[in-house]
Amino acid sequence: MMGKRKMRILVTNDDGIGAPGLDVLIEIARQLGDEIWVVAPETNQSGVAHSFTLHDPLRMRAIDERVFAIRGTPTDCVIMAKHFIMKDAPPDLVLSGVNLGQNTADEITYSGTVAAAIEGTLAGFPSIALSLAHGHDGTGTVKWETPMTHGVPMIRQLLAAGWPPHVFLNVNFPDCAPEQIKGIAITRQAYGHPGQLRINDRLDTRGIPYFWIEYKRLNTTPQQGTDVWALASQQISVTPLYLDLTHDETCKTLSHALGQENAA
Ligand code: MN
Repeated sequence: MMGKRKMRILVTNDDGIGAPGLDVLIEIARQLGDEIWVVAPETNQSGVAHSFTLHDPLRMRAIDERVFAIRGTPTDCVIMAKHFIMKDAPPDLVLSGVNLGQNTADEITYSGTVAAAIEGTLAGFPSIALSLAHGHDGTGTVKWETPMTHGVPMIRQLLAAGWPPHVFLNVNFPDCAPEQIKGIAITRQAYGHPGQLRINDRLDTRGIPYFWIEYKRLNTTPQQGTDVWALASQQISVTPLYLDLTHDETCKTLSHALGQENAA
């Protein structure tokens, strides 16, 4: 796929330029590629999904020759990389993460980590989102050694296999030590909201109400072959996703219902 020429990798994330998972991914990228560029949000952008900034200016902070922080979203970062920072040297691969916390099932639609891979795909670059499950074993420790150990050989295998241009890969590492990993599972996105949303309402010091959205992941029995199932069985989950959200089955039933059998 990459031939013998230099491999240039763009690294981004949604947890922000100071996040430990970004350092993990930079280290992974250094082992994979020859030229590593980092364009990441200045602040934590978790949950911003695929939003981009239209009504405010973007500020860019150059940290090093190939390291930049953008006061914007992960999508802004990929756009800035493609159209400005790496304009004359486009990446061969976009890596987003490693996110602190899994991005699986319906939660994928909230994810800034996944959105950066979506934007990379729209920009025409092979893209992979990487996340590390956390909080499953109750120890509170984040097992960064797991992506650090398994990330490089796995990405090499995936790049050698390749995937179509409108597809990107959503990788989730389970919340276990590297030596406990049972393998890599090619999975599908689990269906159904695995968590519970709740509003925590409070009063500020002036008696004015404010609110926190609280999110709690529920322990359900995951359907076999899904991303959530892979994590529960200590496998690295690789889900190929694509950008066409059309539901074919409903297209057919609605076409029939509306008497347009020959329409689609
Ligand atoms: Mn995040």
